[in-house]
Amino acid sequence: MKARIALIAHDKKKDEMIALAGQYVEFLRGCTLCATGTTGGRLVNELGLTVERKHSGPFGGDLQIGAMLVEGQIDAVIFLRDPMTPQPHEPDINALVRACDVHNVACATNPASGHMLLSHLRERQTGGVL
Ligand code: PGA
Repeated sequence: MKARIALIAHDKKKDEMIALAGQYVEFLRGCTLCATGTTGGRLVNELGLTVERKHSGPFGGDLQIGAMLVEGQIDAVIFLRDPMTPQPHEPDINALVRACDVHNVACATNPASGHMLLSHLRERQTGGVL
């Protein structure tokens, strides 16, 4: 089954998201992807990925992805949060990360853990990891 991955990056982390996703672009083409609005737009335009785009994070996109996750529709989340900038939708961010913990869904919140998660999923896809 295709991995279902949610991708979200705060504004100052979007370049890092594109760089990260760019390193796994062939694997990601074989996944079912969703993203918050602006992050998704960049993934589509710059990497040519097919992405289900939700609202922008501050307009409820994190909550929409959280709802999908609660419904069992997401296998992993790459959420590149900006720890240095206050966000107007902080409660939504916390709700999504909490939902990951409640439902035991892998959530990478920085590029290093994002690499580990994506490389693991890619190896699993190709049969390298049980
Ligand atoms: P964006 O939302 O991808 O629409 O910028 C991300 C966020 O701020 O949570």
